[in-house]
Amino acid sequence: MSAPARRAGRRASPARTPAGEPPARPASRAAPAAAPGRARAGAAAAGAAAGSGGKGRTATAAPAAPRHGTADAPRRARPLSAAPAAAFLRALAAANPSPRTELHYTDPFTLLVAVVLSAQATDAAVNRVTPALFAAAPTPAAMAALGAEGIAPYIRSIGLWQAKARNLAALARLLVERHGGKVPRERAALEALPGVGRKTANVVLNVAFGEHTLAVDTHIFRVANRTGLAPGRTPREVEERLVRRCPPELLRDAHHWLILHGRYVCKARRPECWRCVARAHCNYPDKVLVPPPAGAQPARRRGAAPAPEAGGSA
Ligand code: SF4
Repeated sequence: MSAPARRAGRRASPARTPAGEPPARPASRAAPAAAPGRARAGAAAAGAAAGSGGKGRTATAAPAAPRHGTADAPRRARPLSAAPAAAFLRALAAANPSPRTELHYTDPFTLLVAVVLSAQATDAAVNRVTPALFAAAPTPAAMAALGAEGIAPYIRSIGLWQAKARNLAALARLLVERHGGKVPRERAALEALPGVGRKTANVVLNVAFGEHTLAVDTHIFRVANRTGLAPGRTPREVEERLVRRCPPELLRDAHHWLILHGRYVCKARRPECWRCVARAHCNYPDKVLVPPPAGAQPARRRGAAPAPEAGGSA
């Protein structure tokens, strides 16, 4: 091969993609026969890509599947069957019989506003801005009168504050125009409001109205997949499996238990399995049973990516 051709070849095969991932292998240099587990992982990755607009991709265009059992990706948990899944949830329930959302609110409207603000933000960050916002605009009519420009200064410290200010102003206006200034109790009406998706609607239906809904945020998505409690590629899949797995009497509070568990014990970077009350019922194959030495920093897992529709809380 001539020198120019070699240079062209190097340009056409970058060492890393713009996202920092290794490039896909060309078809002529496909990986050697994969173990069944890895083959399934590759199929799942391709399926996820198809689900996000990758329909029609060839195997050569699919991103290389992470190698299980390495630092690139954790090993997969076997799905929990009904009895251990129920025992898992009962263990969380026994440890915290009266779970509560950590967002501060006083009524369905302020809860709705707080949950909208919590997308891509922590509850603590939301709780820092809502007292002043709610003092200025405690009702949908007052929030609508404030408008996006009036709301924005109160929420500038929150991620996506400009879009959220616009959504809150429009949402408040619609509550006044369509619902008499009240937060509707119907899912369709809630999801028709600006900035309100299925997760936010589930939180409001559950916390404000006592419905047995289960909102899947980034913590629940991770816990459900990591432990085998309700594996799924999307929040909706996880939600549906969790609802099927959850004993009916626990459904009302299950999302609180799982969010709090994911936030404080089954953490993203390093689950604290040594103090986990559900450890005996968990299928995570890489449990961390020894606490790190005092002062040690948690290791960052390479390739960690946020869950679909991640962020926000309840
Ligand atoms: S044992 Fe570890 S991985 Fe399993 S639920 Fe508890 S903290 Fe999470």
